[in-house]
Amino acid sequence: MNSILKTDFDVLVVGGGIAGLQTALDLGDQDYKVAVVEKDATIGGKMIRLSKVFPTLDCASCITTPKMASAAHHDNITLFTYCDVNSLDRVGQTVTADVTQRPRYVDPNKCIGCRQCEYHCPVYVSDAEQGGFSATKAISIPFSNAIPQIAVMDVENCMLCGKCEKVCPTHAIDYFQEPEQFVITAKTAVLTTGFELTPVSNKHQYGMGEIPNVIDSMQMERLLAPHGPYNRVLRPSDGMEPDSIAYVQCAGSRDKSMGVSYCSRVCCMYAIKQTMLLSGSLPLADITVYYMDIRAFGKGYEQFYQNAKAMGIEFVKGKVAKISEGENGGVELHYESQDGEGVVTANHDLVVLSLGMVPGWNPEGICPVSADSDLFVKTIRPKLSPTLTDMEGVFVAGAAAGPKDIVDTITESGAAAVEAAKYMVALERSRKAAA
Ligand SMILES: Cc1cc2nc3c(=O)[nH]c(=O)nc-3n(C[C@H](O)[C@H](O)[C@H](O)COP(=O)(O)OP(=O)(O)OC[C@H]3O[C@@H](n4cnc5c(N)ncnc54)[C@H](O)[C@@H]3O)c2cc1C
Repeated sequence: MNSILKTDFDVLVVGGGIAGLQTALDLGDQDYKVAVVEKDATIGGKMIRLSKVFPTLDCASCITTPKMASAAHHDNITLFTYCDVNSLDRVGQTVTADVTQRPRYVDPNKCIGCRQCEYHCPVYVSDAEQGGFSATKAISIPFSNAIPQIAVMDVENCMLCGKCEKVCPTHAIDYFQEPEQFVITAKTAVLTTGFELTPVSNKHQYGMGEIPNVIDSMQMERLLAPHGPYNRVLRPSDGMEPDSIAYVQCAGSRDKSMGVSYCSRVCCMYAIKQTMLLSGSLPLADITVYYMDIRAFGKGYEQFYQNAKAMGIEFVKGKVAKISEGENGGVELHYESQDGEGVVTANHDLVVLSLGMVPGWNPEGICPVSADSDLFVKTIRPKLSPTLTDMEGVFVAGAAAGPKDIVDTITESGAAAVEAAKYMVALERSRKAAA
């Protein structure tokens, strides 16, 4: 393994989602040198994978791609994608991170993003970027507006036929590429490691992964996206246009049996958004949301909810207890009605689980920062300085600190950038005073 020391950064940002990008841009614009380390092959986080965003219904990729491009082309920002942070600690006045660059089996300095390797690869694999609904190739660029535009080889599925190597015009394919280890040092760090959807594989009552027409909310984002797998909303089992779609709220939140007792704050709003988009693409479909409470807490959010009701979306107050396979690919929902009807069974063509958020990263054994009881990064002054962690000079922003929408993520990222800048000014002052 090669080992290269990289030292010339002021700030290390861990996570290249919208929180990490905003923090990096806010600091880079103030002339601080920022390193962004991202585990995926592309920056952009969840936001670049969404269809449209509440409450404005802006196209997600139209507003995320410019941020990604600004960070990628910024003189003061260096992106390290497809990297694992093995350790992150503070020694004296320096934050040190030990990082591994995973091999793409494609030389990043030679790849020109022409996709010839992808077009000629004969191996089709399920495309996780499209919710698993379509296929990609065993060597590919993650998606069309991924940054950087560098192909990644899926070595699990590659059959080493050599076609990609033959067609690559710049000889970028490198079957022997090794992981590369390096060290990043900085004065301060901001953790922006975001979230993952609540895993529901253990909650057999919901049938996720077992009943083909039960999907999760991120998969629905892909079905609704203009560059989604089918370019329209079809149910996965048979390609039928669904006439009746149901949303199960709190499917991965406020549920102690899943270890997620908190509210994930965005699921009501993203479900309402998706129902509005669905009623646009499937105007004749019946759309029902089964909910316990609707939490539309942000600016303009209550009006957004009222608009959905006015558009004919049905909201049924009831807790879904069990989901089972119905006839002809249908799905049966068994729910406890809060309107005095007892246990009711309803049939739908397609069911979407509004899953909640769990932390995207577990720092245990990697970084001495503490986690809260909800396992998100602990903030020590949640009211007056909500981005402060219990590690000196290490800040947190976005969903890494707890479930959050994009508006709050952007606000918090700006706050973390200011805290990091203030910390560096204080460091410089104490250095001068000591000199
Ligand atoms: C289905 C769905 C729909 C949504 N729709 C909306 C909407 O319409 N409007 C809205 O306001 N909000 C919406 N949200 C919420 C929105 O997605 C979040 O607010 C936003 O993505 C938070 O950004 P983030 O950067 O904090 O986290 P993320 O988007 O999760 O980004 C975190 C990044 O950190 C990286 N990372 C994680 N761990 C590491 C590590 N150890 N090392 C390096 N990198 C790491 C990840 O790969 C990722 O790129 C929706 C959420 C869901 C689930």
